[in-house]
Amino acid sequence: MSHTAKPLRLTPVGLVLVPLALACVITGVAVLAVSLNHRLAIVSPAPLLTATILVYSALLILLGRSAVANLRELESLSLRDTLTRLPNRCALHVDVERLAESGEEVALALIDLDSFKQVNDHYGHALGDQLIEHCAQMLVEACGNEARCYRLGGDEFAAVLGGKVAGTILEGMCRTLLERLATPVTVAGRQIAVGASIGLARSTAEHRVPSSELLRRSDVAMYMSKRGGKMRCTWFNETFDRSRERVREIEDEIRTAIAAGEFALAYQPLVDAEDGRIVAVEALLRWPRGERMPLGPNVFIPVAEDSGLINPLGQWVLRQAVCDALRWDDMTLSVNISAAQLRNPEFPIKLGEVLEETGFPPHRLELEVTETCLVLDPVVAERTLDVIRAFGVRIALDDFGTGYASIGFLRRFSFEKLKLDRSLIELASGDEGSRAMMLSSIALARALNMSVTAEGVETEAQAELVRMAGCDQIQGWLYHRALPAAEIDRLIAEQNAKRAGEAAA
Ligand code: C2E
Ligand code: MG
Ligand code: MG
Repeated sequence: MSHTAKPLRLTPVGLVLVPLALACVITGVAVLAVSLNHRLAIVSPAPLLTATILVYSALLILLGRSAVANLRELESLSLRDTLTRLPNRCALHVDVERLAESGEEVALALIDLDSFKQVNDHYGHALGDQLIEHCAQMLVEACGNEARCYRLGGDEFAAVLGGKVAGTILEGMCRTLLERLATPVTVAGRQIAVGASIGLARSTAEHRVPSSELLRRSDVAMYMSKRGGKMRCTWFNETFDRSRERVREIEDEIRTAIAAGEFALAYQPLVDAEDGRIVAVEALLRWPRGERMPLGPNVFIPVAEDSGLINPLGQWVLRQAVCDALRWDDMTLSVNISAAQLRNPEFPIKLGEVLEETGFPPHRLELEVTETCLVLDPVVAERTLDVIRAFGVRIALDDFGTGYASIGFLRRFSFEKLKLDRSLIELASGDEGSRAMMLSSIALARALNMSVTAEGVETEAQAELVRMAGCDQIQGWLYHRALPAAEIDRLIAEQNAKRAGEAAA
């Protein structure tokens, strides 16, 4: 452990008393020495007092100078981040206000690292700190000598540039940073994939914006970068304020709707590709909103995911779906699981509780996860999926064909089922390239022992195509839309009656 010498720091009272005491002692000793040397009786008090005052003044000047130096150091420390040594949020406000005085454009970029929390959770805070230092260095390099860089706290950085076309230049620097972050960084011998979402805002001579407002605007723009898929720069736009406001409203409404039991489930049947029999159902969340504007799961689920409300909501979905599906005999039940749920260490515990309390056979349950769920946090995801599999529950990879899933990725997670996304089915019926891609995906799934479901089949031609290609199950409006539980009861009863009739014949 290294110890750095701490400079002497005195309070104002100390600044007066310490030199006074020292002066008295020094002068007393000096006078005593002189008196003894000249074998004089102790000298009279007047010269003693003068000497004390002189020594006191000298010491006061010396200590005063040291105190001013200390104060300067304290001031500079209060404007700096201790980990990266970059200027901090206070310094940013001071700089923006100073640059604005010149009357020229001032641009501010807010940079928030993506998935930094996972790095901290996996590898510990020491490595997290090293990653922050590394990213700070990358930012400084991308900004060169032109823009000033700051650490605002946590995984949040900023860069400020003043002058003509400052915004355009700063945006270029941000894009350079994103390009460099596209390849994993090496920290403490580990390869770590870390991205960034960047928000930009500017203040011009015509539209002067105070530093606090500039920071808020770049924060709103950064949030839009996150919502838009991360690893991008977004300029602030006045309409963002309104849409952010709307997101907050939806968040509040979801909270109230969970408490009021407003959510409902619909079930879309999956049919056997060969004989069209219903073999499984997928639970799909619905929000009946009465007179209010209807909202689909594609709108409200991302809001629930961002706010963490997906945890209670997803828990409700799981329990309700399992309770409904108990009466559907040998049907498989598919339930969609979000990334945030998979990351939640409580999730496997809650799943175990639901299975135990309801007595639902685990082999009839299938959890659908998407690629983004897993790439964000593969280590935790793998661990969680292993626990879930240990219950006997199967895992399906949903929306395959919309992302970048590699062979290595499919092998690593060894899903029990692959669900080909509707977009892939649609394209495959139109062009050769997409058809080849669909066929090779199916061949790959087969080689890895996965079953395959085609999603979003709307036409007979598509059904024929996926059947010929070797899909095991088909899901789509050609057969059934998502239906209330009571309708599934009716469909299954019909199917069972038909089967019983065929057996009797
Ligand atoms: P998904 O899991 O891929 O579900 C399939 C979506 O495709 C459903 O949309 C379904 O209604 C729609 N679909 C099925 N067949 C067809 C078809 O032939 N044509 C067209 N055009 N669409 C078809 P939905 O219900 O709007 O759900 C959208 C997404 O919301 C789901 O996609 C899933 O990612 C998510 N979601 C729904 N319920 C839940 C839930 O309980 N939890 C979580 N985490 N996500 C859910
Ligand atoms: Mg699904
Ligand atoms: Mg899907």
